Amino acid sequence: MKYLYETHMHTSPVSACAASSPASQARAYKRRDYAGIIVTDHFTNGNSGCPPGLPWDEKMAFFASGYEEAKKEGGRCGLDVFFGWEFNVEGTEFLTYGLSLDFLLAHPDMDKLPIRQYSGLVRSAGGYLAQAHPFRTANWIRNPGAVAPDLMDGVEVYNAGIPDEANTKAFDFARLHGLPVQAGSDSHHEILPFSSGIALPKKAESIADIIDAIKTNRAELILPDRMSGQWV
Ligand SMILES: [Zn+2]
Ligand SMILES: [Zn+2]
Repeated sequence: MKYLYETHMHTSPVSACAASSPASQARAYKRRDYAGIIVTDHFTNGNSGCPPGLPWDEKMAFFASGYEEAKKEGGRCGLDVFFGWEFNVEGTEFLTYGLSLDFLLAHPDMDKLPIRQYSGLVRSAGGYLAQAHPFRTANWIRNPGAVAPDLMDGVEVYNAGIPDEANTKAFDFARLHGLPVQAGSDSHHEILPFSSGIALPKKAESIADIIDAIKTNRAELILPDRMSGQWV
């Protein structure tokens, strides 16, 4: 028996680019037999649906609402739902896990931090940081490529929304630096071209169990056949 977890997904309206509500996203993962999801909506420095001009606590309440609604639906349908976010520094993005809404409320304007300070803040608070799709290229990414390996705990080496070539570069980068690896769908809609994520041998009791499995290399990557053949 394997337990499937999504490591990277978005909900509407918290992520401006997402098209499905938190509840329909939760139901969609349940239908695909996932044990759980980490909701990683775009933080307020990314493609955020957050109304402008709100004070920090209201911004954070809006930000957390996607997770909270997904969690409520997960409780109804039997899906574990965990809190995370995708932090954006000039187009370069970082999946952040293991911290709470209280952490966000305690750090007003942390969305303006450059990556070195952000990494220090998250990791000193016990959080986990992985660069998302490091080798994706787009005109809004100021410095494409991976950041210094000492700034992160892990690397998203497979992202279902980007070309294979960019994923292979991320896999090679992680291997070169001995960094833990993870895979994710980066789902923005309940209909997915390919459902990725990780498979664990044991059910995660908390997000700490998922982080620990990634860090200790016990998370099996859910990859399309064409990739899993190459990466063994
Ligand atoms: Zn997006
Ligand atoms: Zn994303």
